[in-house]
Amino acid sequence: MKNFLIVSLLATATLGSTSCNSKKEMNENNEFNYNVEQFADLQILRYKVPGFENLDLKQKELIYYLTEAALEGRDILFDQNGKYNLRIRRMLEAIYTQYPGDKNNEEYKQLETYLKRVWFSNGIHHHYGSDKFIPGFTPEFLKSAIVSVDEQTLPLANGQTVDEFCAEIFPVIFDSAVMPKRVNQAHGEDLILTSAGNYYDGVTQAEAEAFYDAMKNPADTTPVSYGLNSRLVKENGEIVEKVWKVDGMYSPAIEKVVYWLKKAEGVAENEQQKAVIQKLIAYYETGDLRTFDEYAILWVKDLDSRIDFVNGFTETYGDPLGMKASWESLVNFKDLEATQRTETISNNAQWFEDNSPVSPEFKKDEVKGVSAKVITAAILAGDLYPATAIGINLPNANWIRADHGSKSVTIGNITDAYNKAAHGNGFGDEFIYSATEKEYVDKYGDLTGDLHTDLHECLGHGSGKLLPGVDPDALKAYGSTIEEARADLFGLYYMADPKLVELGLLPNDEAYKGEYYNFLMNGLMTQLVRIEPGNNIEESHMRNRQLIARWVYEKGQPENVVEMVKRDGKTYVVVNDYEKVRELFGELLSEIQRIKSTGDVNAAREIVEQYAVKVDPELHAEVLDRYRKLNLSPYKGFVNPVYELVTDKNGNITDVVVTYNEGYAEQMLRYSKDYSSLPSINE
Ligand code: ZN
Repeated sequence: MKNFLIVSLLATATLGSTSCNSKKEMNENNEFNYNVEQFADLQILRYKVPGFENLDLKQKELIYYLTEAALEGRDILFDQNGKYNLRIRRMLEAIYTQYPGDKNNEEYKQLETYLKRVWFSNGIHHHYGSDKFIPGFTPEFLKSAIVSVDEQTLPLANGQTVDEFCAEIFPVIFDSAVMPKRVNQAHGEDLILTSAGNYYDGVTQAEAEAFYDAMKNPADTTPVSYGLNSRLVKENGEIVEKVWKVDGMYSPAIEKVVYWLKKAEGVAENEQQKAVIQKLIAYYETGDLRTFDEYAILWVKDLDSRIDFVNGFTETYGDPLGMKASWESLVNFKDLEATQRTETISNNAQWFEDNSPVSPEFKKDEVKGVSAKVITAAILAGDLYPATAIGINLPNANWIRADHGSKSVTIGNITDAYNKAAHGNGFGDEFIYSATEKEYVDKYGDLTGDLHTDLHECLGHGSGKLLPGVDPDALKAYGSTIEEARADLFGLYYMADPKLVELGLLPNDEAYKGEYYNFLMNGLMTQLVRIEPGNNIEESHMRNRQLIARWVYEKGQPENVVEMVKRDGKTYVVVNDYEKVRELFGELLSEIQRIKSTGDVNAAREIVEQYAVKVDPELHAEVLDRYRKLNLSPYKGFVNPVYELVTDKNGNITDVVVTYNEGYAEQMLRYSKDYSSLPSINE
């Protein structure tokens, strides 16, 4: 499973994150350019890999081999996403690199944008919405461009002429009725026949379901993930699985992956990690799903290694039946400093519990903090590239999770890149009241945003207790909003506590104002950019944020603690008394904990309905209008850093260096050249 930021909405740090995440550098390097380019509805960013230089040579080498193994799987995903994707990509790349005509021509520019979108989506369907995107150039233009390049470089099928190729491919590109959706989830239709994903061929949904139902044994308490690593096809009237493995489907790419994994095995950090890599290789070589489960169990138990990775057929979002997994890879190493931060918080969990403003009868006598692992991504690949998750929780098999646990991580440097790229995107200038607030937010917003998330996850949810006999589900539909409010308030209250400065988690006693301002502005106003006009707030995190912000605003009115000020027709949030805001957060925390501990569903309903749900239509329209004018891309993705081996004159590896200069198209073309071992048609 993955945690995604809904990136369209990631205008400031407070808008999205849902789990513990990373440290921030206090002094940011302004020279690093996080923004690469923008086209269609996409923004390409770049991320740093802080700490890579400080790894030892063997660790760097291990990461290098694992990144190579990660990049080798790229074509698999293109083919999984649609059977024409590799041919279309290669045809477009041939034009892009050889086109002899005017590159300022509008149609050519549209072709360039289309190719960039195909790269981004790993195919011709939108990476998020899964609808096919239709190009802004004509079939006539494409035909003229195709005949202008060297025929040898076109992905023609065996014996196919250019005309035949165009006749086969053009409807796939231009006809909106052909393969309109990658994953169709519309109830009542044949989800397999109406989905363009390449996981099934010639079989209906009913046939596929019957095929797998016959395999399943309801008494099996440790079932394999049926169908996970194969395409289901009908051959000579018979339904068979074509397994993705060495000497099976996708073998040329998988062999390369295995080649690099074997190199990695040779420099593994320890025996446990070595066993993990060996088991993964065995799985790729056999395609045996029992072996995959054995690998997953070894992997979940490897907690001591600094370096970790995912490499394989992992998530099943691309299959409408949720069985077949797309290929992905993430190589990472533990961010010791950020992980230490969550450990510091966790180690002091009892102090926080004892000193909270909550009534003593609702406190836990003994509380355990949760320590989350924060990782630094070294490479994103397959279904995690260029668009990526910020957190990952694996393995997916339920029985393995129950019997052996799971690993949950947050990718710190990716969250950081989102935050940094958002600086200077105009959002703060538009919505933040004055230079004073802007300074708090700019100076401390990222750090305090992360810290608030840590407090929320590591302490907030675990604090407090129910009175004996209270049903944990007593709050019914209001339960999750109240629970999120409780966790958020616990974090907000402590954000301003001198204890955080004492523990070295905050630099001084005004840093918390960055989070307070962000939180209130978001809850009172800017989170409304995520809501369609006319709608109320439904999602529980958003409800909780508005609940807290509106409650504090209202209760503070007699003393004018928080104000909504109008200037030149625009509304702004102004905080007049930060200390009083903290007191109000404490008061509300105490009440919310009472509601939770006693299961007071009437009070829960009242407070949620009064503060959390309804939207002021006038303010909403104003916020949407101001946001629209900023022209921010709703979706974001990343280019990877480049790793290079340094060798001495005898060929011995002496270092691995990382650089960040590669452009988007440049990187995509390099990957298509160096990591592209699959044929254009895979059957
Ligand atoms: Zn939460």
